[in-house]
Amino acid sequence: MRKAKSRGAQSKSRAQSALPTIGTRLGARTEFRIYPSIGVARIGDCRDSFMIGPEAPGLVPSGPFRGADQGIKPQAARFRIYRVEVDANENEVVTEEIVAVHAHDRQVAVVAFQVCANEAHPNTRSIVETTENGWWYVAPINATRSMCMFVTDDDLLPRGAKRDLRAWWLDQLRQAVFVPRQFRDLAHSRDFVTRSARSQCLDVPVGSGWLAVGDAAMAFDPLASQGIVKALDHGWQAATSIAAYLKGEHSSLEKFALQQRREYAVFQATRAQYYRLEQRWPRSAFWRRRNDATKL
Ligand SMILES: Cc1cc2nc3c(=O)[nH]c(=O)nc-3n(C[C@H](O)[C@H](O)[C@H](O)COP(=O)(O)OP(=O)(O)OC[C@H]3O[C@@H](n4cnc5c(N)ncnc54)[C@H](O)[C@@H]3O)c2cc1C
Repeated sequence: MRKAKSRGAQSKSRAQSALPTIGTRLGARTEFRIYPSIGVARIGDCRDSFMIGPEAPGLVPSGPFRGADQGIKPQAARFRIYRVEVDANENEVVTEEIVAVHAHDRQVAVVAFQVCANEAHPNTRSIVETTENGWWYVAPINATRSMCMFVTDDDLLPRGAKRDLRAWWLDQLRQAVFVPRQFRDLAHSRDFVTRSARSQCLDVPVGSGWLAVGDAAMAFDPLASQGIVKALDHGWQAATSIAAYLKGEHSSLEKFALQQRREYAVFQATRAQYYRLEQRWPRSAFWRRRNDATKL
């Protein structure tokens, strides 16, 4: 008769058998791998420039390796994470480069499009008006049509059917003073679309063979009203950086990424200042999140 193993011995042998040994086939799986692998990098003493380390196996970085001050350029690395599908025979295919998106709030816009603007108030102005649970934004599209949206956080929306959203939206509207005056029939709005209006950015807007521009790289709060200008500006910057890269200026894509990071930091600081101007609703979840200096 075989002697039963003690509970400790059983769990130990189970844990051991779960660990792969060299040569063990692990079966089909998905792995996430960092490239280039973390290893040795040249520290360098140059103060005015740097160089990028090898970007792919077998590639040697092109010089010059010394900067204008004759110091050796420190080596930077663009780390990337790849999704690798491995089949049961250990064949590997890289299927995706993983880039993280950092969201800095959970804002949404509940949008209605309106016709028949009130003749007493010509349809030429944009309006921003704050209320307890968020803020209103009205922007003319043409002489008779406007977009009217309420910006709030997604967890503050009613959790029910579409008609609950409509009732809630109209409730918020009743708290506004200037926006309802702009329209004759806002109370009859039926068709709403809810869109993400959160501020977010990619951790790195440049990868191997791609770079991101516009909202794909970073989305600004609609309060900034800079989305379209930003998209056009990024297109120009990206074209300039790519042209410089193709002429051999290999740090041009890094400069593009740094410029984007600075741009997003300026946006965040400016946005925080604007939101903190509104102090009338200290108990409102929406405004509390924005009045707290550490949250935005
Ligand atoms: C409710 C709301 C109100 C706003 N109000 C303003 C405002 O008043 N002023 C302002 O400046 N900005 C405003 N913005 C922001 C502005 O709309 C965006 O910042 C701007 O449109 C971003 O431009 P883009 O070219 O980067 O991206 P997009 O305009 O989103 O263009 C991307 C395009 O790529 C297409 N696409 C996506 N995936 C694929 C694919 N796999 N293959 C092919 N095509 C694809 C999409 O269909 C889309 O046409 C607002 C945004 C929202 C949500």
